[in-house]
Amino acid sequence: MCEIAENLKQIKEKIHFYENKYARILGSTQLIAVTKNRSPEEIILAFEAGQKDFAENYLQEFLAKRDSLLKLNANWHYIGRIQSNKTREIAENFLWAHSVDREKIAQRLNEQRPSNLPKLNVCIEVNISQDPQKSGVGEREVLELAKYISGCENLRFRGLMTILHESQDFSEQLHSFKKMAILLKDLKRQGFPLDTLSMGMSGDFEAAIAAGATQVRIGQAIFGARK
Ligand SMILES: *Cc1c(COP(=O)(O)O)cnc(C)c1O
Repeated sequence: MCEIAENLKQIKEKIHFYENKYARILGSTQLIAVTKNRSPEEIILAFEAGQKDFAENYLQEFLAKRDSLLKLNANWHYIGRIQSNKTREIAENFLWAHSVDREKIAQRLNEQRPSNLPKLNVCIEVNISQDPQKSGVGEREVLELAKYISGCENLRFRGLMTILHESQDFSEQLHSFKKMAILLKDLKRQGFPLDTLSMGMSGDFEAAIAAGATQVRIGQAIFGARK
C-alpha cells in the first residue's frame, strides 16, 4: 500500500478511536483531506484510496491543478481566506466554503453561485481564540452574519468553522473547541438548522472530536509534513 493510502487508513482508525473514546456516534466525523501544496498525483492517490472530500486554501493553486483533477468525482471545499475578487471562482468551483467571515463575501457568493449548481454550503469562520493572526469573526458577530447568510437563497448555511493557534495544549484546544460547540448550540436553539462544526487539523483533531467536530480538515498527517 502506498504511504498516502496507509496514512489515510490510520487517520480513519484514529477518528473512530476518538469517536469511541469521547462517546461520539461512530461515523459522525467526516474526514476532509487538505491538499494545499500537494500535487495532482498525490491527490489522485488519496482519491484512489477512497477519499472523496478535499479542501484547498488558495484559489490560484486550485485552478492550476483543476484540469488534472476534473476526472475525479471529488467534493471540493474552500477553506482559505476569501478575497472579494475571488468569490466568483469559488462560487463556480466548490461545493463548500468554510471560511465566510463577512457579509460582503456572502453576498457575492450568493449572487455568483451558478443557478445550475446546488446551493453552496457555507460555514462562518469564527476566530475563537481571538488570535490577531487569524481571520474569522468574533463570537459576538456570529449571530448577525448568520442571519444574513440565512437570507441568501443560493447559500445553505451549515455551521461554524475555526482554526486554532498551533501552540495550544490539549486542554486549551478542548476549551476553545467547546466554545465553538456552545456557539453552534446557541444558534440551533435560535432556530438555525445547522449540522456542521468544521474544526480540527493534524495537530488538534483529538480535542476537536472530543468537543463535537463533524468535519476534521487534515493535511500533513495524510500527505506528510509541508515543506
Ligand atoms: C492547512 C490547513 C489545514 C490542515 O492542516 P494540517 O496541519 O496540514 O493538518 C486545515 N484547515 C485549514 C484552514 C488549513 O489552512
